[in-house]
Amino acid sequence: MSKTDDDWKRELTPEQYQVLRKHGTERAGTSPLNDEHREGMFRCAGCGTPLFDSDTKYDSGSGWPSFFRPKDGAVETSSDNSRFMRRTEVHCAKCGGHLGHVFPDGPKPTGDRYCMNGVALKFEPKE
Ligand SMILES: [Zn+2]
Repeated sequence: MSKTDDDWKRELTPEQYQVLRKHGTERAGTSPLNDEHREGMFRCAGCGTPLFDSDTKYDSGSGWPSFFRPKDGAVETSSDNSRFMRRTEVHCAKCGGHLGHVFPDGPKPTGDRYCMNGVALKFEPKE
């Protein structure tokens, strides 16, 4: 995917652009996806790639939509040492859009907590 910054600015909402392309973080508790409990697929808001199945979503109490396992090969990680914290950054494997971070305090079976910005995701209910 080779989109220019201008392309992304045009296609995304300002909130999506800030998170996906500028590594922003939405305010905790603001995403409607926190309360999304239907069956379906969470896709990348940038390119539409399926990222998380609804049966891997759980309530972490963090105020951000949280998942314990991404779809195979859907996301990639990199180390993020900004803001004096050591964190693992998570982005879409296809478009490189920033999604959130992964922490090692998730539930079984993976023990991972994918802490995602809801604005970087698009939910598609199963029909
Ligand atoms: Zn993407």
